[in-house]
Amino acid sequence: MGKFNIALDGPAGAGKSTVARLVAKELDFVYVDTGAMYRAITWKILSEGIPLSDTEKIAQTAARTHIVIKPGPLGQTVELDGTDVTERIRSTEINQHVSHVAAIPRVREVLVHLQKQMASSKGVVMDGRDIGTSVLPDAEVKVYLTASARRRAERRFQELTEPGMTLEELERDIERRDQLDRERKVSPLRQAEDAILLDSTDMSLEQVVHAVLDLCRMKTEWR
Ligand code: C5P
Repeated sequence: MGKFNIALDGPAGAGKSTVARLVAKELDFVYVDTGAMYRAITWKILSEGIPLSDTEKIAQTAARTHIVIKPGPLGQTVELDGTDVTERIRSTEINQHVSHVAAIPRVREVLVHLQKQMASSKGVVMDGRDIGTSVLPDAEVKVYLTASARRRAERRFQELTEPGMTLEELERDIERRDQLDRERKVSPLRQAEDAILLDSTDMSLEQVVHAVLDLCRMKTEWR
């Protein structure tokens, strides 16, 4: 068997991006962080001063935005209309608004189309919320990665680039975002029926990566 696709979904802070990056490296696959794409659109909308209530304008903006994701020094570089926004899209302000933007159906249409294209030649590890259910329903390997809210907040706390948020605030922020992602009408966050559930609360990063690679061996002929 040649290349295959891996769909990695789960709530905020479950460790998806780190796991996806390491699995991609091991397999020599391309890692695609779909959350970064929603974050990039959100950044553009906020920097252009478009009100979050103006869904028409937001959809139009998403349709004429050029997003490129490519390997870079921080794992991945995210370019929006030619500008490197990799670090800017990780701010607290983006965290606060991204789930509202991601709930707009026409924004999802634009990004899902792009994501499907990126995975069309296979050999992709894609992380997000709706990859196994909606973007790549035929992915050969599907994982739903989760952990307790406290554990996820602790992990995000360690990666925080801006001071000022306590662990408790981060946990509330994560839970609020998960709730919005679970309750939205279009492609809500949920485990695909054929996805394997991995609860990483008491697992090390290495253990999670091994578990995903074992699953690849089981589901495909990769050795
Ligand atoms: O993965 P990350 O935390 O960076 O994602 C940011 C936000 O983007 C999520 O909270 C969610 O609202 C949205 N998202 C989504 N669908 C995806 C990936 C991310 O709705 N496939």
